[in-house]
Order: sequence, then structure tokens, then C-alpha cells
Amino acid sequence: MRALVTGGAGFIGSHLCEALAARGDTVWVLDDLSTGRFENIEHLTDRITCVIDSTLNQETVRELVRDVDVVYHLAATVGVQLVVSQPVQTIVNNIQGTETVLEETCRYRKRLLITSTSEVYGKSMKEVFAEEDDSVIGPTSRHRWSYAASKAIDEYLAMAYWLEKRHPVVITRLFNTVGPRQTGRYGMVIPTFVTQAIRNEPLTVYGDGKQSRCFAYVGDVVPAIIALMDQRDICGDVFNIGNDESVSMEELARRIIARTGSASTLRYVSYDEAYGPGYDDMRHRRPCLKKVRAAIGYQPKTSLDAILDAVIADVRRRMDPNAARASCP
Ligand code: UDP
Repeated sequence: MRALVTGGAGFIGSHLCEALAARGDTVWVLDDLSTGRFENIEHLTDRITCVIDSTLNQETVRELVRDVDVVYHLAATVGVQLVVSQPVQTIVNNIQGTETVLEETCRYRKRLLITSTSEVYGKSMKEVFAEEDDSVIGPTSRHRWSYAASKAIDEYLAMAYWLEKRHPVVITRLFNTVGPRQTGRYGMVIPTFVTQAIRNEPLTVYGDGKQSRCFAYVGDVVPAIIALMDQRDICGDVFNIGNDESVSMEELARRIIARTGSASTLRYVSYDEAYGPGYDDMRHRRPCLKKVRAAIGYQPKTSLDAILDAVIADVRRRMDPNAARASCP
């Protein structure tokens, strides 16, 4: 199989490339290195071909799509911090980039998988989010919701391509995917807390810390993405992928302190201070996994403690320049 991975130098993309290359696929990466990092795929350069460009460049997308069998579209502006500080880039990249990839994959009839996000459920207070549930997002004056809205438009567009043009596309909604190589630079909580704990700095718990999330290990998520791509009879449909073990941010911070043996304490930070005025967080977010389980037999295997240990080891390695150099093949 010849596969194109947009956003392949990103955190999830690089793990996907690794898995595809390991099973013998020929892999091309298209990444503008905005949030992705070349170091993420440096160890794969003998097995993959990397093109540094944007999905907004239609010519490049067209040339790459023409020469592959399938396309995994992961390129997007992600991370709450980035979304809040650069709303124009978020909206344009996410909508125009996906539109370009849809147009070109449809032109050459190439199967496409799009990664969307649990953000599209918004601030719904349901205990568990299933694919057919309502999306409840805030007003347009609150930029945080531009990410959810842009990804929802991507989903509508993908569905429309299937309905109108029979373009074979499948959508995955990822719920807080975490693991090695994820950076805290754009606000993601686990690498942020782990870095703070290793440095013995206070862990910045936003709000009252009672909000909860379910964290899924990238090593569980990537095989599910590949299995959904491989299941050729699935088209024009959307699937949650995640983990259903829930944890509050306060409890998460405490566990990370314990597992790193850190002397850190918790520092409660208001949302206004963390993200600027007018931020809306969602209290709880847990995926219903029935649909993806029925489709591909998906079952997340990695516990939160095992995830934390993997991330702690990775952050420690990256913070130690000598160890980081030694681990490079
Ligand atoms: N969060 C936190 N401290 C941080 C970063 C994030 O308490 O330093 C909180 C954030 O407000 C949210 C949760 O952790 O309630 C998950 O944040 P993240 O940005 O990782 O993902 P989200 O679920 O918001 O997309």
C-alpha cells in the first residue's frame, strides 16, 4: 500500500507513519512543520519520504495524492493555546486544508481518512458522547469554539463528498490522544504537567481541577485508525476513538507528582489567567466506544498509569540532551 500522511511529522502522525512503515507500506509525509517537528520522523527517513509544504498548496497535494493508494489527513492547527492565540490560522488551515485534500482525493478516487476531534461535541453535559449526539458549542465571540466549528465543517464537507460524489471517506473523532512525542507547547495537559513535575515546579491546574478527561494512548489509537482505513466497506461514517477511563485534572496532577517522585505542589490557575478572558472549558468528556468496537473490535489496552509512565520516560529523555542524542539511530 502507498499511503500519504498529511501532518505526518506531528505527534500522532509520526506514530502512524511508524506503524505503516513497519507493516511494509510506502509512506509519504506532507507537513509544513508548523506544530510538527522533523525530529519526530528523523528515525524513519530511510523508510518514508517527507515533503515540507502545506495542505493549502493544492499543486503539492495533487501531485502527492495522484501517486498513492490512500490518504490519512491529520494536518490541522491543534492545541487550545494555539487555537486561542491564532484563530485566523486555525480556521483557514483546518477548513481550507481539508477542502483541498477532499477535492484532490476525490479527483483521483483515493480512499481518505480524516481525523476530527471530540471538541465537536462541545460543552454538552452528557455523560458519554456517542457519534449521533448533538454538538453544543458556544458563541462566535469565544474563539475557543472556532476549532470545534472548523472541524465540524470538515466533517460536514467529508459527508457531503460521500453523499454527493460517492467519495470513499471515513472520519475519526479522537478523544485526548496522548503519548511520547506530544509537546506541551500548545497547551496539552499531560506533557505540561509531566514537565512541571520533573522540574519540581508547581503543576498549573486550571479552574477548580474537577473537570475530567479520558486519555487515550497513541499506541492504541493508531492501530484503530489503520483498521478503519483498511475496512473498505466503511464510507461516509464517523467513529469515536479514545479511552473510557476518566480522571479529573486535580487527580491527574497528583498521580503525575507521585509517579515522578516530584516535590511539586498544585497551583490553581483561573481560566482567565490561563487562556485570556471569556474562556469556556468543557467539564467532562468521555467517549462511547460501541460503534468503533462493533466496526473493528477496538478495545483500548493501555491504562492511564502505563500512559503516564511512557510519557514521563519520554519527557525525561527529551530533557536530557545526551540521552536524546544517544537514542537517535
Ligand atoms: N489544563 C490544566 N492545566 C494545564 C493545561 C491544561 O489544568 O496546564 C486543563 C484544561 O483546562 C482542560 C484539561 O486540562 O480542562 C485538558 O486540556 P488539554 O488542552 O490537554 O485538552 P482539551 O481537552 O482541553 O482539548
